[in-house]
Amino acid sequence: MSLRPLGMEPPPERELLCIFGTGDLGRSLGQRLLQTGYRVVYGSRRPHSCGPLPPGAQVMSHTEAAQLAAVVIVCVHREHYDFMEEVAPQLKGKVLVDVSNNSKKGLYPESNAEFLQSLIPAASVVKAFNTVSAWSLQNGPSDAHRQVFLCGDKAEAKQAVRELATRLGLSVLDRGSLSAAREVEDFPLQLFPEWRLPLCIATGLTAFFFFYLLIRDVIYAYVEQDKDISFRIMVSLANKVFPIVSLIMLSLCYLPGVMAAILQLYRGTKYRRFPDWLDHWMLCRKQLGLLALGFAFLHVLYTLLIPIRYYVRYKVTIRENKTAVFDTTSAWRTDSYFSVGILGFALYVLLGITSLPSVSNALSWREFSFVQSKLGHLTLLLCTLHTYLYGWNKFLRPSTYKWCTPPGYMLCLVVPSVVLVLKLLMVLPCVDRSLGRIRQGWERTGPEGDPITLAQHSSCLQN
Ligand code: NAP
Repeated sequence: MSLRPLGMEPPPERELLCIFGTGDLGRSLGQRLLQTGYRVVYGSRRPHSCGPLPPGAQVMSHTEAAQLAAVVIVCVHREHYDFMEEVAPQLKGKVLVDVSNNSKKGLYPESNAEFLQSLIPAASVVKAFNTVSAWSLQNGPSDAHRQVFLCGDKAEAKQAVRELATRLGLSVLDRGSLSAAREVEDFPLQLFPEWRLPLCIATGLTAFFFFYLLIRDVIYAYVEQDKDISFRIMVSLANKVFPIVSLIMLSLCYLPGVMAAILQLYRGTKYRRFPDWLDHWMLCRKQLGLLALGFAFLHVLYTLLIPIRYYVRYKVTIRENKTAVFDTTSAWRTDSYFSVGILGFALYVLLGITSLPSVSNALSWREFSFVQSKLGHLTLLLCTLHTYLYGWNKFLRPSTYKWCTPPGYMLCLVVPSVVLVLKLLMVLPCVDRSLGRIRQGWERTGPEGDPITLAQHSSCLQN
């Protein structure tokens, strides 16, 4: 007996989708589609002996399955696409979804999706779902795995796949025509692309300063004073390397901005592209800053454990019986050194927090640039001052220059000092005004439309 009230339309039949391949992705996708309310039929090489499938799904040969659905999702590796030619007559006019990825970049002359389109010209191929993993489909896609990049040449075919992905709870980003498939196929192969350069810089700087300080502190003491202080490698040396790397990396976040400003002033326009290396450098400033913050954290942790070190407690016990005259200047210096360091670190943490997407999304562009630029430069100033206070007047003592080499903290002050001096020049009213005009679209061009030189420009300014 039907319980449906009289005159009510029968419920629409659920749409049937076809999936080629009963492997990992095919099974996970099929399960999610069934849960969303679709009917699913699998096309398989071995319909009678394939592995366990989600309950409610049917399985048959490729040819039979393709005939039943308007949308066919091809969950098969590209290397096995040759079987598709046999199914070509059944795929005519259908939407073919290519989900495939490659094991490395540049493996084939054309993208997998374009290759599939060339095999079945009568179908409309859409590239999608290749960035969603079988694992995340089974466990409910988390934010990072929700994004489906879509590309294809037929608008209706793309619309059908967009609806499908949206109903699965995924967010869709249209990347344009099928020619964009190659780029989309490269996405899953990327391994922290923006982190590569900052990590290389951090590793290079850490290695350089570790060996530099090892030679200056430990090996020097062994050779010149016949003292074994190798135990200092673990804490003292590490606690010298971390702040040095942190300060240099923080200044490397602000150096490309200053260089870009100088370039714009020199060219007299903002409409000429920066060199690729500068572009690349500017794009990884956030990662440089986060790594710098990581090193600063290590410096703070190592500094906190200094009072409990055996070596320090031993020295304190020896000094306890000696009397010393209180030096107000030293008291000022050490207190300022700690205070400036703590303030610098607090701002450092603030910069790190505001770079988190959840926080930066809640800020307006003005607020974000105020924190990252103005407070960022203030952080650099405080941390640089902290290092100058650490050095104080040691640069006057000849004993500082062991084997004629300057100490590590002196070397690390070069880049931040240069950045701060250049930044100071940038904020001078005359320079700031020119830069402001250039950034609002003003162009300094000669009579024939060629940019005039800086010398001409300064004479113009003087006039
Ligand atoms: P898989 O577990 O190896 O499954 C591939 C399926 O293809 C097999 O189960 C088989 O199904 C079918 N197949 C194998 N050899 C074949 C042949 N010679 N001719 C016809 N069909 C053949 O692979 P998968 O992990 O599901 O990946 C499938 C595709 O999805 C790949 O292109 C992959 O790059 C892409 N992808 C996978 C994931 C993932 O998380 N796994 C994520 C994104 C994209 P039958 O035995 O039923 O024919």
